[in-house]
Amino acid sequence: MAEPMLKFVHQPQERPVKRPAAQRRKDFGEIYEGFPLARAEEQAARCSQCGIPFCASHCPLGNNIPDWLRLAATGRLKEAYSLSSETNSFPEICGRICPQDRLCEGNCVINKDFKSVTIGAVERFITETAFSEGWVQPDMPVTEKRLSVGIIGSGPAGLACAESLRSRGYEVHVYERQAEAGGLLRYGIPGFKLEKHVISRRIELLQAQGVIFHLGQEIGAGKGALSFDELQKRHHSLFLATGVYKAKQARVPGESLKGVVRALEFLCEAENPEPALNSAGKRVVVIGGGDTAMDCVRSAIRQGAAKVTCVYRRDRSNMPGSRQEVLNAEEEGGEFMWLAAPEEFIGCDHVESVRLKEMRLGVPDSDGRRAVEPTGQYSVLEADMVICALGFDPEDLPALWKRDDLAVTSWNTLKVTKNGYETSIPGVFAGGDIVRGASLVVWAIRDGREAAKAIDHYLSTQSTQTSEGVL
Ligand SMILES: Cc1cc2nc3c(=O)[nH]c(=O)nc-3n(C[C@H](O)[C@H](O)[C@H](O)COP(=O)(O)OP(=O)(O)OC[C@H]3O[C@@H](n4cnc5c(N)ncnc54)[C@H](O)[C@@H]3O)c2cc1C
Repeated sequence: MAEPMLKFVHQPQERPVKRPAAQRRKDFGEIYEGFPLARAEEQAARCSQCGIPFCASHCPLGNNIPDWLRLAATGRLKEAYSLSSETNSFPEICGRICPQDRLCEGNCVINKDFKSVTIGAVERFITETAFSEGWVQPDMPVTEKRLSVGIIGSGPAGLACAESLRSRGYEVHVYERQAEAGGLLRYGIPGFKLEKHVISRRIELLQAQGVIFHLGQEIGAGKGALSFDELQKRHHSLFLATGVYKAKQARVPGESLKGVVRALEFLCEAENPEPALNSAGKRVVVIGGGDTAMDCVRSAIRQGAAKVTCVYRRDRSNMPGSRQEVLNAEEEGGEFMWLAAPEEFIGCDHVESVRLKEMRLGVPDSDGRRAVEPTGQYSVLEADMVICALGFDPEDLPALWKRDDLAVTSWNTLKVTKNGYETSIPGVFAGGDIVRGASLVVWAIRDGREAAKAIDHYLSTQSTQTSEGVL
């Protein structure tokens, strides 16, 4: 039989079709279409099956990428899905929103001369085929363990942990303060990157598996909230996956003016037909250079903003956000002002303009990133709405939960044992952004899966130490 792989020499890289910018500006639907079968097989067959697959070693989940590419290239899609779902709880989500250019595809050995294999698009194709063929089923436990685990937070870390623990036979309860599950997948990442039905489909599978969701349930001290102590009494172990939500401040005068808003406040509601924060017809200035800033730019365009300008203090090549997302934003009509930082938000009651200081790049710091310094030049940009997308810090969980014994780092992220995911409170584990700081979905999934193993080990050890055999 002829070798089905190594087609990169003759077969050029092709990405899935992107909807025209003029069309996608009008809705929040995903911008990429899926691969058709022939294209997915053809693109998967470009893999060189190299001896040391850097794509896999640079994937936080250690996905067996060359193996499922080979299966996909030869039409063995059911086996490809089975293999890919062994290491990834939500491959259809990673296929859509992982920054592949920085992870698997960026490290593909053919990338330099032939452009990488389009791993993310093939991953999405395999998983969507699996859904449409009915191959994706709830991972039911073989036996029930009579031990329960409480999970705080239903973002990707909490959901991955829930799925993994439930398949091992634990009774799993997820506590979520929002009305719907999904964390930032639902209440942050816009539909043009990840449509909401993709998340709902997974939540339904988790419910069918027996995971119990307590939605609209805050864990904390306010009215209607459940205390952390109460939760500890209810469950044999806890997993904390609360993410990071405290918006970083611009720390300039005028920040409390009306019309100066935070990125998540804006994004959470942006897709509603009548959002509380509506940028339609307005001149919008977005401050920041990360993926959240790009999401704000592109959401404001879809709401019908008159003009959207993104202001970032470094230049294009030194911004933290994905290059592809900047390109998408530019195609859709977003404008960029590089090397500029806000000095003041100006207005009487409502913001009217932003005074900007021009910056220049200095010497690289210890991370190799160029520092910035003001040049002494200023400019003014008119604005009816300013969206600050400057990153997020963790809430003060020990204070919120009145648990001084919950150790935190100097950044207020939770301290956990190395590789063990256990916090300073025995039996209480943590993962995702609340441990790493603002990070990526794929790392949150990894943390959820690994923490589930650690919790399983902890509870198995505990139960064998009691006279009854179970806690
Ligand atoms: C706008 C935006 C765009 C992004 N785009 C991407 C992207 O394209 N690709 C990518 O890989 N990553 C992206 N990220 C990052 C990614 O979303 C996060 O790294 C990931 O969601 C972290 O998962 P998590 O489970 O740790 O936390 P989260 O997803 O934040 O979930 C935490 C959950 O805990 C709940 N919670 C918090 N406190 C309590 C409490 N006291 N009681 C009850 N519930 C509580 C929250 O309501 C939330 O549902 C983006 C982030 C943002 C903000």
